Amino acid sequence: MFDTLKTRIFQGKQYIKDIKNASISESFRGFPVLHSNMDTSSCEGICPTNALNLNPLSIDMGKCTFCGACAKVCKAVEFSNGYKLASTDREKLVVTAGTKYEDYIKSAVETKKEIVKIFGRSLKLRQVSAGGCNGCEMELNACSNVNFDMGRFGIDFVASPRHADGIVITGPITKNMAYALEDCYKSTPEPKIVVLCGACAVSGGIFQASAELNREFLDKYPVDLYIPGCPVHPLTFINAILSYINDKK
Ligand code: SF4
Repeated sequence: MFDTLKTRIFQGKQYIKDIKNASISESFRGFPVLHSNMDTSSCEGICPTNALNLNPLSIDMGKCTFCGACAKVCKAVEFSNGYKLASTDREKLVVTAGTKYEDYIKSAVETKKEIVKIFGRSLKLRQVSAGGCNGCEMELNACSNVNFDMGRFGIDFVASPRHADGIVITGPITKNMAYALEDCYKSTPEPKIVVLCGACAVSGGIFQASAELNREFLDKYPVDLYIPGCPVHPLTFINAILSYINDKK
């Protein structure tokens, strides 16, 4: 028993105390920083997902895989390590030259009073991998580990849509998963939220031109939150959900 206590004291607190201001590696590719006054010709045709637009210079974070290929060859594109990337507005995911990270995070996630009232202290989510590669799914698993400990905020993944307050979709939504996804959505009781997690879910990502996708679900049902990433970092996911269900940004 004393050995166990000694080990616990030695390990200290394993969870990230201040999740809203957690530090992250300098090399993490997060919020883009674009310079419109620099030559962009070397970037032409390099983006695998058409996230990068050169005229005018912009990056659609909903399509971006954060592969860094553009930043390697073109000085006009850099990536900061800002990880608060989510937005309630799909349009806002398009970052243009001069957009400051500090300004983006202030306005990107719009909090609704009724959402804060209903889900502010407890939010149970059902995750649907709709053709995902397991990248985002693994990061979502990590959200509940001892380090990120999302459960302390009352946010948990549950095993059944009937126990859920919303669904989190990963993957580009393949034909094979279209029915199961809709079934899951319909089985989730009202009121409920829909979260698109990762470039594939938001835009189809690198699979956007595939004939094997069926994204009609997104035309039928409203989306509440878009979370960019490839895969989505746990800090990005947890901060996105916290900003949406809690008005204390
Ligand atoms: S980092 Fe994003 S914008 Fe740049 S090439 Fe990769 S996918 Fe395209």
